[in-house]
Amino acid sequence: MSKEQKERILIVDDSEMNRSILVDMLSDDYDTLEAEDGVEAVSILSKQAMDLSLVLLDIVMPRMNGFGVLDAMNQNGWIKNVPVIIISAENSSDQVERAYELGATDFIARPFDALIVQRRVVNTLLLYAKQKRLIGMVEEQVYEKERQSDLMIDILSHIMEFRNGESGLHILHVRNLTDLLLGRLIAKTNKYHLTMADISLISTASSLHDIGKMAIDEKILNKPGRLTDEEFAIMKTHSAVGAEMLSRLPVHQQEPLVKVAYEICRWHHERYDGRGYPDGLKGDEIPISAQVVALADVYDALTSERVYKPPFSHEEAVRMIVNGECGAFNPFLLECLEENAERLRTALDHGAVEEVRQRKLRSISDEMLRGEGGASRRTLQLLERERMRNSFFASLTETIQFEYTASPPMISISARGAKKLGLDEIIMDPRNNEKVFEVIDKKVWDEVARRLRSSTPEKPEARFDCALHYDGATRWHRIVTRALWSEDTEPKFDGALGIVMDIHDTHMKLQELEQKAARDPLTGLINRTSAKERMELRMQDNPGSHYALAEIDIDDFKVINDLYGHMFGDKVLQQLARRMKNSVRSTDICCRAGGEEFFIFLEYNTDIEKTIDRIFRNLCFTFERHAVSVSMGVALGQEVGLAYQSLYHAADIALYAAKRGGKHQYRFYQPSLQNLLDVEPEDASGEKA
Ligand code: GH3
Ligand code: MG
Ligand code: MG
Repeated sequence: MSKEQKERILIVDDSEMNRSILVDMLSDDYDTLEAEDGVEAVSILSKQAMDLSLVLLDIVMPRMNGFGVLDAMNQNGWIKNVPVIIISAENSSDQVERAYELGATDFIARPFDALIVQRRVVNTLLLYAKQKRLIGMVEEQVYEKERQSDLMIDILSHIMEFRNGESGLHILHVRNLTDLLLGRLIAKTNKYHLTMADISLISTASSLHDIGKMAIDEKILNKPGRLTDEEFAIMKTHSAVGAEMLSRLPVHQQEPLVKVAYEICRWHHERYDGRGYPDGLKGDEIPISAQVVALADVYDALTSERVYKPPFSHEEAVRMIVNGECGAFNPFLLECLEENAERLRTALDHGAVEEVRQRKLRSISDEMLRGEGGASRRTLQLLERERMRNSFFASLTETIQFEYTASPPMISISARGAKKLGLDEIIMDPRNNEKVFEVIDKKVWDEVARRLRSSTPEKPEARFDCALHYDGATRWHRIVTRALWSEDTEPKFDGALGIVMDIHDTHMKLQELEQKAARDPLTGLINRTSAKERMELRMQDNPGSHYALAEIDIDDFKVINDLYGHMFGDKVLQQLARRMKNSVRSTDICCRAGGEEFFIFLEYNTDIEKTIDRIFRNLCFTFERHAVSVSMGVALGQEVGLAYQSLYHAADIALYAAKRGGKHQYRFYQPSLQNLLDVEPEDASGEKA
């Protein structure tokens, strides 16, 4: 949806006052339309169902009530595209239940408050937008894969049909019938625990039901007229032979498709009363996959022309099957067959295939939305809300913004960002998407994922600088992420939000500075001028972060020189420099400011006291049996400002305080320390020459 074009909401309520309250609540953000009863609502829907984003629907109304509207929306297929929120004082559980059954998405009880109405409206719109995206995504990704394997199976089945002397459509028909019957079956009973994915699997596998016929002599297969008993016995081996072929596949034995195909091959001539072949299984001993394919197979055989018989009409075929002329079938399935009469008639042309496809898409995305063991609906709602907020801010800047959900594993990237990176806005299962790893190195990705998963609800943020490849170039970027943890008692990693910023110029400048930085030959640390440049760049680059400057001075270094000699002193300086480097991250800045005076500039997230304490302890050490200690003054950017001069000045004062306080200690700058300078200025200058 574009920001300029408001979404349109239809408000259906017989009370003018109720309508106007709702209009007041919503008209700032949405276009509103009003209908004063069900008849008027249906008339508006029939003209512009496609332009409506949502219906707010009252239940009790004259002429046609809310259920009538829902009925009409179902009959016309509008309910698929327009979500309905029921608004009613009638909140008996029967009513609510019935409204949900008819496809309502939400229910708000009257009297309502503005916040609840607005929140529900926003959520419903977002969820529908999400579902629409998911449908598109499933269509593209899931079905692309499925289409390819379907294609292979089609080719195989045409070869088989050619050989079997069948119409060439038998396999397609069986597949569509299987799909229709199973779709009906799950509406009728949950006995077999079938999901939409199972149905899709079974109908695909149904294509292989007769592969065993490849091993049957062509003379028997294509014999006009009745088979002799002996020939029939040979013909009957095709089900066991087909299953055998599958079980001998050298690979793919664990594939669900192969397992289901095995069941179908072996048992699609079994009958519910145990009088089929090859194993004489009875009732639900026969897998449901084989039961349904058996029925589809018989129905299509009856209604098709064969070398030995003319086609029967649909009615005759159903009558013959129900009468048991083709053996016994599962009573549930027989009901499905009878009830589906209208659909079956048309099932075998192409429109039906498309319809089945649409229905499946919707159900799969529903399952995904429900999150089958993954992110809860609530989490998705929260994510959506955050996403909106983020996308708003991202649209104001040049950043690329993304959202990662753990289940289903999916990345959605802001429209602008996706375009920039040359990626799709929605990427399912990104770990298996080659295009993603053309943009971000797999190693970097793994590191980002690892750090996100090892983050905690208390500290969910993480930051990475890395190179990204797109638009024919490689540039440095900063990925800032925030992990999303569920609010359960045991928080679960639900995903992450993130932004990606181009930091190429700063990064290159830092590298350049690093390369040409003037270094102290004794310790290898950079000098004060280089350090100053780099500090300033870092603070400009990321002014939102926390910085500390620690100024360090060795205690009584003159004494060390005097006692052990200048060379020993040099070794102490080298050792101290090494210890400084080892105390901080490689991105922090260690500098020899001159003589036996050093500083460390570091970025921190939390608990700077602890960090400083640790660094201080590392810098007090025993060298060749001589105890070396330092004094340290620390200034925080947050307190004195992000400027080299003010940081340095404040750290200097704190260091002076540490020396004055008896050395071998550290002090954080605080304004009261200024007094030390005021009271004894000459002492201060003597100490810190
Ligand atoms: P305080 O604890 O008050 O800091 O006393 P201090 O003796 O450490 O300080 P002061 O500034 O009085 O003396 C610093 C000494 O460091 C004087 C100088 O000879 C010595 N020094 C400066 N640069 C080097 C160097 O590169 N190598 C060696 N070995 N000594 C150095
Ligand atoms: Mg000193
Ligand atoms: Mg000194």
